[in-house]
Amino acid sequence: MNIETQSCVIIGKQQVSVAPQQVEWNGQGTLVRITRGGICGSDLHYYQEGKVGSFEVKMPMILGHEVIGYVVESDNPQLKPDQKVAVNPSKPCGTCKYCQRDQHNQCTSMRFFGSAMYVPHVDGGFTQFKVVDSSQCVPFPQDADETVMVFAEPLAVCIHATHQAGDLRGKHVFISGVGPIGCLIAAAAKARGAASIVCSDISERSLSMAKQMGATDVIHAAEGDFTPYLADKGYFDVAFEASGHPSSLQRCLDVVCAKGTLVQVGMGGAIPDFPIMALIAKEIHLVGSFRFTHEFNTAVEWLASGIVNPLPLFSGEYALQDVDAALQFAGDKTRAAKVQLTF
Ligand SMILES: [Zn+2]
Ligand SMILES: [Zn+2]
Repeated sequence: MNIETQSCVIIGKQQVSVAPQQVEWNGQGTLVRITRGGICGSDLHYYQEGKVGSFEVKMPMILGHEVIGYVVESDNPQLKPDQKVAVNPSKPCGTCKYCQRDQHNQCTSMRFFGSAMYVPHVDGGFTQFKVVDSSQCVPFPQDADETVMVFAEPLAVCIHATHQAGDLRGKHVFISGVGPIGCLIAAAAKARGAASIVCSDISERSLSMAKQMGATDVIHAAEGDFTPYLADKGYFDVAFEASGHPSSLQRCLDVVCAKGTLVQVGMGGAIPDFPIMALIAKEIHLVGSFRFTHEFNTAVEWLASGIVNPLPLFSGEYALQDVDAALQFAGDKTRAAKVQLTF
């Protein structure tokens, strides 16, 4: 069976179009009618620069990895037609050494939606119909708010980041950079029992979003007084760097206590003068965080049950035909946080 689908295709820098394509359904996997998707920082990078880091768009690729929809047909009898599902955008190989260790986000041949990491690129989810592995479909209740459920993927990233820091119960947490990811880390840290969550940013708008998402206090990154957090080699047990700026990493190293943990979530370039002495002298545990594993299912559960309400981050929605306008709006950080597309 062949189905026509309209897709948001990126061709190169600032070149995105809506194109008709054919989807072939041969009875394997699950055919999903995608209904809604969220625009992520990586989609914006592909649009604004034609690349994310060193992954350059070299051929037309369907954008998007934060999508939900409903089942049309499936090879899994558990997935009945019309069942609503959040689509996990990661498809690990299942056999490499990391997959065998249950570290699927480190899979050496990961197929991740809307990624130009490999050639040919892996198409994303900004399309009306898509065939996925049935294991990528995570069902959620029919009456759940779809605008909320689209946050499953970024929330999964943030729950994973908090897992990188271990048990957060009773801990004092600092988050530097509160765009959507920093804010969702605040929400996840709150859900995991942090005693206090202090968020820092240069944007007042972002700070007020962070307050709505679970921050117990906020401080302006440039104008705030950090002195109280510097005493005794630093106040916080855990710091999350979620902006990717070198100055933000320095701030995290300053305010995290000796023997504390610093989780690097923000993606940035090289840091020419990495403050390595602070890391050594305070014996800080520096740990990266990349994507997620089983946290995707946790995120779906938390959103469906209301443990996390992401709606303060929702800035508006566009029909797929207006993907260009949606990407431009989403790229304007003075006005938009999370923008969604409907298919
Ligand atoms: Zn994302
Ligand atoms: Zn693998």
